[in-house]
Amino acid sequence: MNIIFLGPPGAGKGTQAQRICDALGIPQISTGDILRKAIKDATPTGLKAKAYVEAGKLVPDDVLIDIIKDRLAMEDCKKGYILDGFPRTVPQAEALEGIAKIDCVVELEVDDENLIRRLSGRRVCLNCGATYHVSMLGDRTTCEKCGETLIQRKDDAPETVLNRLNVYHEQTAPLIKFYESRKLLKKFDGMQGMEEVYQSIMDTLGALA
Ligand code: ADP
Ligand code: ADP
Ligand code: ZN
Repeated sequence: MNIIFLGPPGAGKGTQAQRICDALGIPQISTGDILRKAIKDATPTGLKAKAYVEAGKLVPDDVLIDIIKDRLAMEDCKKGYILDGFPRTVPQAEALEGIAKIDCVVELEVDDENLIRRLSGRRVCLNCGATYHVSMLGDRTTCEKCGETLIQRKDDAPETVLNRLNVYHEQTAPLIKFYESRKLLKKFDGMQGMEEVYQSIMDTLGALA
């Protein structure tokens, strides 16, 4: 199955996508992770993307469409995948229609107040993409999966978070109607606990398979 995860920053897309991909044995394609790695390695794409990502703005569509075209052409995508963080604009969604057939769009709904709390306490592993929240880390400072030191993303700073929420409401939220009209959208209450959200999504995907 080819699945899109849609929702504002902090909704839990990465957390759920990672777990569901492990369960289904399909790759998680996180454009945020791909861009952060490119920035860290200072590749041509990384150099183009850096200022946008750090300001909480969207990287231009043509850059993202090229990244996704290359990634979806890889062998491991033949059995399905979860797109986590793509598409984020209507032009990206239109380009995707020319590249892939999507089976389901999972939308996670969380209010802005909760998003701000989640993003301000988020800690991430740049090595494997795992995501944590300070409230569950205690005095742990390293990744449970790979041992790398956890960091706070620069774009999770309070001013940038507000910027990203505005960008979401203006540029990405229109995709809800876009996928509703194609009868692909499934909505989930992302304010439930991680386990409840996971179960609801798995139930829905199970019924589609
Ligand atoms: P979050 O998990 O908080 O929603 P991501 O890790 O998905 O954030 O994305 C981080 C940043 O990477 C975005 O703020 C944006 O600058 C860039 N980015 C990621 N995906 C896209 C995309 N599809 N289009 C444009 N920019 C993107
Ligand atoms: P996204 O990829 O949509 O930006 P993440 O998966 O990175 O979101 O989650 C953002 C933050 O919220 C992380 O710190 C994560 O641990 C936490 N989080 C994720 N899901 C939940 C949930 N259901 N309840 C409470 N906190 C959550
Ligand atoms: Zn890790």
